[in-house]
Amino acid sequence: MILYHPDLGTHFKKFGINLPLRDDRADRVFETLKEKEATLAPIEIEEIERLTLKDLLLVHSKSFYEKWSDLSLLKEELKVTYDNGGDPREFDKIDLKTVERFRDHILLQGGATVLALEWALSRKFCFFLGGGMHHARIDSGSGFCPIQDIVIALRKKQEEGRIKKALVIDVDAHMGDGTSEVTKDDDSIDTLSLHMAKQWPLESELSITPSTLDITFERGEDHLYLERLKEALQFFKERGPYDVIVVVAGADPHEKDALLSSQDLRLTREQLLARDQMIHEFNGQVPQLWLMAGGYGDQAHSIYSQFLLTLI
Ligand SMILES: [Zn+2]
Repeated sequence: MILYHPDLGTHFKKFGINLPLRDDRADRVFETLKEKEATLAPIEIEEIERLTLKDLLLVHSKSFYEKWSDLSLLKEELKVTYDNGGDPREFDKIDLKTVERFRDHILLQGGATVLALEWALSRKFCFFLGGGMHHARIDSGSGFCPIQDIVIALRKKQEEGRIKKALVIDVDAHMGDGTSEVTKDDDSIDTLSLHMAKQWPLESELSITPSTLDITFERGEDHLYLERLKEALQFFKERGPYDVIVVVAGADPHEKDALLSSQDLRLTREQLLARDQMIHEFNGQVPQLWLMAGGYGDQAHSIYSQFLLTLI
């Protein structure tokens, strides 16, 4: 099950924002899959129920909610969230009407993650070509991640009584520091993060809350990646059972990733395919939701496609 719609991508230019973040990954993955599976179709955008501002309180603080309720405050907040994406002053030049459209867009993306989770629960597997905003924290957005779509979706399904216990497996090159922070007092959501031992966000001013299990890699330790992943999965196999697994499937550990701050992991395409297949086979019958998270440059899309092509 693939969840995709062309309007779900964050195409900054549409909002008059000039950030050097290329986000046509989802479109390129979808085109590649469609060549093999002609019946594949985008969802109807009306199927997605946008998150409400109140939904944000499932994860975020009152002050976060207040920022998102006031367009001027939100504009300042977005400058911080996209700080390392180029020139944050780009947000200064947009008017509040555009900030409102941007807010609606992010709430729609969050709603898509919720829908994708529902599909994962009812059909055992869903890959949403979007989502995975794992850096968003209790009080603020961070690292291109404006809201915590992952844990908002999980808490919504917990509220509905659809699930109790969940595991988040984060294999983006950067630590899932937002996910670990927002779940720190929550025994119902376990977190595993495999990431670079140095680099952002670990080498920043941010306070870091450990995940349930963190596996870190120094530069040059790529050959240990699959073995350590296997051991980590075994740890959670014994710790479960889980009602659902969310995979934050960043493509930025790839050796050809274009982001400077992801260069300490340099996995090959073959290693990344083995990573994805190992996770996919983990715990057989437990439903899995996969989210895109990070992945930058010309080749990122092909990391998602190579895995998805093995499934269709
Ligand atoms: Zn990343």
